[in-house]
Amino acid sequence: MGEGVLRRYKSFLPIGPATPMVSLGEGDTPLVKSQSLGRALGCAELYFKLEGCNPTGSFKDRGMVVAVAKALEEGSRAVICASTGNTSASAAAYGAYCGLTTIVLVPKGNIAMGKLAQAVAYGAHILAVNGNFDQALALVRDLAQKHPVTLVNSVNPYRLEGQKTGAFEVVDVLGDAPDYLCIPVGNAGNISAYWRGFRQYCQAEHATRTPRLLGFQAEGAAPLVLGHPVAEPHTIASAIRIGNPASWKLAIAARDESGGVIDAVSDEEILEAYKLLARSEGIFCEPASAASVAGLRKVVGQGLSLKGKQAVCILTGTGLKDPELANQIADIPLLELPPDLEQVEQAIVSLRGK
Ligand SMILES: *Cc1c(COP(=O)(O)O)cnc(C)c1O
Repeated sequence: MGEGVLRRYKSFLPIGPATPMVSLGEGDTPLVKSQSLGRALGCAELYFKLEGCNPTGSFKDRGMVVAVAKALEEGSRAVICASTGNTSASAAAYGAYCGLTTIVLVPKGNIAMGKLAQAVAYGAHILAVNGNFDQALALVRDLAQKHPVTLVNSVNPYRLEGQKTGAFEVVDVLGDAPDYLCIPVGNAGNISAYWRGFRQYCQAEHATRTPRLLGFQAEGAAPLVLGHPVAEPHTIASAIRIGNPASWKLAIAARDESGGVIDAVSDEEILEAYKLLARSEGIFCEPASAASVAGLRKVVGQGLSLKGKQAVCILTGTGLKDPELANQIADIPLLELPPDLEQVEQAIVSLRGK
């Protein structure tokens, strides 16, 4: 417990005696069994993997710890990334932990409050670029070419290596791979990493099979579904607001080799799943994370039968990253009352009637 992914999965990672075994306690996140949604979808067993329980509140820590450890091993003194928020939060945390300078480029006005707060708190150098994520990524790629700074976006191969440990954990807990694995898709690194993880675990005979991957993009940012880049991606789910995924080819290969699909869900469907998870499962995740559940609901609605099947939804980040959104869409009135017993009692009675 809390040993981190480098120690736990050493033999599956590209690390050697010279790699510093750093850890902020990432990985080993809960796999929670669904209380109601699984039944509603006719699924034998539905699980949620709570990646929001990672040290900075998203799965990005799994890949960042490997990328930063390798940067240290190679003598780097600084890391840089473009980010819709979670990558910068993670890079800033691991950078601080390892004494590295961290530079993050974020699309101006397009990053959730909690994520920006993290980068600020961890002391990263933050540059807000007047452009979208794809443009920020192009900039940091150029900067890392020209200057002695390590790029830690998921184009850094160590990121995907670390992120594949999520698949290992699913198998370690369930005893084998599930029938279906549902996952949100933005820059498409994570779906590619999970596929690699499941395949490697199968080859190592820790699993007897691989799951079908069901990847979900947001409708306004669905290049993999459309088959071409989207110049101005838009969706409420900022973590997957990406128009030209870096891991495009890997994600398509993951989809096809697994016999799965990559589909799109609307913002409305995402928000419905986001609310449902909180209110009927007690799980508060990011809107982007809820895309996995929105997508599963969609494909079941279209006729996919989960009878006798086991499914896992990867909930990639915590809802606390974006508290403004939760408050914006709140449909429960916040009552203001004087500190008076009778009036409080009356208010509770009238609320219960609703
Ligand atoms: C990064 C991120 C995603 C998308 O993952 P990709 O590897 O970019 O496809 C989804 N949800 C959250 C919370 C993220 O931080």
